[in-house]
Amino acid sequence: MNVREWVRRAAEKIEAEAERLSRLDAAIGDGDHGHNLDRGFAAAVEALPEDVRPGRALILAGRAIVSNTGGVAGPLYGMAWRQAGKALGDAEQVGAAEVGAALRAALQSVQELGEAVEGEKTMVDALAPAVAAYDEALAAGGDLPTCARAAAEAAERGAEATIPMQARKGRASYLGPRSIGHLDPGAVSTALILRALADVAS
Ligand code: ADP
Ligand code: MG
Ligand code: MG
Repeated sequence: MNVREWVRRAAEKIEAEAERLSRLDAAIGDGDHGHNLDRGFAAAVEALPEDVRPGRALILAGRAIVSNTGGVAGPLYGMAWRQAGKALGDAEQVGAAEVGAALRAALQSVQELGEAVEGEKTMVDALAPAVAAYDEALAAGGDLPTCARAAAEAAERGAEATIPMQARKGRASYLGPRSIGHLDPGAVSTALILRALADVAS
């Protein structure tokens, strides 16, 4: 799989959904999530060199996201891409096993930095089930498209499942019980990134 295509496809989806993501954030946060990410992912696409190994490309994309994305999602996503890139190491070919390692590293990075667990209405509620579904499909002998599709579907279900949750982390947590009844924007953007992976893997 071409990981640069994954970053490009994710950036396209985020650009297309930026208004919606910011509107979701306006309901329980400060209304900037889509525009923050659009800027950061556009910078990541600009920063993607063609002449380096996939792992290095993701590290550079992550660095561009960290320095160009406003809000808490910037460091969370930027570090996640960087750790995913590190997990790829020097690999020249990225297959189902490598993507699995990258996704696991991304989840670990988000959880270390953000200290969120599942059920707290954050991007973890999309990413954690996605990684679990990916690993389950991989263990069952699934190829990359199959594993990636399982991850995208689990992320989309995970994002939907944030609606009845009360936010316990980030800006939305200031609303207390009034955060209930809304989608978490970060979980929705994570589902877009996983859907981008499924698109380019198939
Ligand atoms: P800000 O709140 O700084 O404006 P964004 O709007 O870009 O940042 O991002 C908000 C999203 O970040 C939330 O929807 C949530 O998914 C995610 N988020 C916030 N805090 C955390 C955390 N501690 N761990 C994981 N994700 C978090
Ligand atoms: Mg915000
Ligand atoms: Mg903000």
